[in-house]
Amino acid sequence: DTIGDNFDRTVQAFGERDALVDAATGRRWTYAELAAEVDALALGLLELGIGKGDRVGIWSPNCAEWTITQYATAKVGAILVNINPAYRSHELEFVLNQAGIRLLVAAEKFKTSDYAGMIEEVRPRCGRLEHVALIGGDLWNSLLDNGKHADRAALENIPLAADDPINIQYTSGTTGFPKGATLSHHNILNNGFFVGELCNYTEADRICLPVPFYHCFGMVMGNLAATSHGACMVIPAPAFDPKATLEAVQAERCTSLYGVPTMFIAELAQPDFESYDLSSLRTGIMAGSPCPVEVMKQVIDRMGMAEVSICYGMTETSPVSTQTRADDSIERRVSTVGRVGPHLEVKVVDPETGLTVPRGEPGELCTRGYSVMLGYWEQPDKTAEAIDRARWMHTGDLAVMDDEGYLNITGRIKDMVIRGGENVYPREIEEFLYTHPDVLDAQVIGVPDERYGEELMAWIRMREGATPLTAESVREFCSGKLAHYKIPRYVHVVDEFPMTVTGKIRKVEMREQAVHLLG
Ligand code: ATP
Ligand code: MG
Repeated sequence: DTIGDNFDRTVQAFGERDALVDAATGRRWTYAELAAEVDALALGLLELGIGKGDRVGIWSPNCAEWTITQYATAKVGAILVNINPAYRSHELEFVLNQAGIRLLVAAEKFKTSDYAGMIEEVRPRCGRLEHVALIGGDLWNSLLDNGKHADRAALENIPLAADDPINIQYTSGTTGFPKGATLSHHNILNNGFFVGELCNYTEADRICLPVPFYHCFGMVMGNLAATSHGACMVIPAPAFDPKATLEAVQAERCTSLYGVPTMFIAELAQPDFESYDLSSLRTGIMAGSPCPVEVMKQVIDRMGMAEVSICYGMTETSPVSTQTRADDSIERRVSTVGRVGPHLEVKVVDPETGLTVPRGEPGELCTRGYSVMLGYWEQPDKTAEAIDRARWMHTGDLAVMDDEGYLNITGRIKDMVIRGGENVYPREIEEFLYTHPDVLDAQVIGVPDERYGEELMAWIRMREGATPLTAESVREFCSGKLAHYKIPRYVHVVDEFPMTVTGKIRKVEMREQAVHLLG
């Protein structure tokens, strides 16, 4: 199926229902109204000469126009290239040239980001960039105007196919430079649909999306899950804001809320948290990085998200591979990433030999099925490293599978610490540190050590007003409860961790800083 056909079916079935609410501006669209804008932009793109296979970049924080562009490009078969709104001119130039973008849709500015200025700065060095449509600017408006007067029949005869590339999404850049994953209609539409199925979405659902659209969490698990079920998308703010998120859930009676763990932590820590009426919440998704058991419990108890799911996945697999279901036991719903999704396969292998390890033993998680990307955009060597000849995607994540197929992600291969020959999984220590009443958030990394090869260092964010922990007090807290080689030798108390825009903690950067700290 294609994204455009699927969208049109929803519009036919649920035309009069809410499709999109932009809480920051108060604007709202029914499915019929949204479809009118999407079709107008799609026809405007065709008139401009943008069609199947052309790359259209989008560079903006979350807004309704992001979503309109997403569906308009899918309808004409253009390949949407998601550009991280935190990028600066140097990175923009790289993406424009690497993906060969012909049209760039961009916000004019947001907070300290002067997008228009940065585009002008790099434009002389980006020969393939023909048009720039600033959202709300002259070209943008004329695309919509032209499209409104064009013959809609032009949209009927575009030869679109399920396996056509439709989207280039860059990975978060948690472990290094982001890579562009090329994804098809079939990849992302199915993934969004099945994520929505496991959340039991219907047209009655209203999904609050503080997660970035430029990332698969927003545009696939959010937008495509919503539109393939007739549910409503609610954008609380252009960029994550815990207060605006709680306000939008309350004002729009949202039934579902998404976030990476750090977002839920920030919402729960709002001083006036108890004053919000969140009683409409039924479900939601936590994903993107390890989801601490404590945080999951609070999301269920204090936010009332009784059916909340944990999803695990990666950009390269459209993204979701495993998900917890509402009927899983509560224990599994807070402490595992669930079971493999419909029509997908997973296995856990020894990274050295490639052989499947026994249940209960850690190894590299591999996934296969409809969700695996077409490849990294114009990087066949990188693609061949990630996807083997039997079409398995090697995730770089360490996992353990239990007897019933539930998976635990124990960390990334790159983050595993080898201390004096013992494999240490930082995740386990982080979970333990969370149980300390004064700890708001904790992250553990390996730092070089002459004697043991690596030593453990804990970075800790304290709750407001709490006395900062020291290496000594942490040792005392862990002693007798964790094996001696898992007890962090160094403790560093911080206000914030270095993060990606998707809200993920950049351990690469923490390791670099730690080397300086230890001098
Ligand atoms: P890069 O590949 O550029 O280093 P990234 O891997 O963070 O960045 P994404 O594709 O956005 O980029 O994220 C996928 C990764 O996020 C997974 O490989 C995994 O490490 C982590 N992840 C996602 N969901 C979960 C989860 N529920 N629990 C633990 N880790 C998760
Ligand atoms: Mg990755």
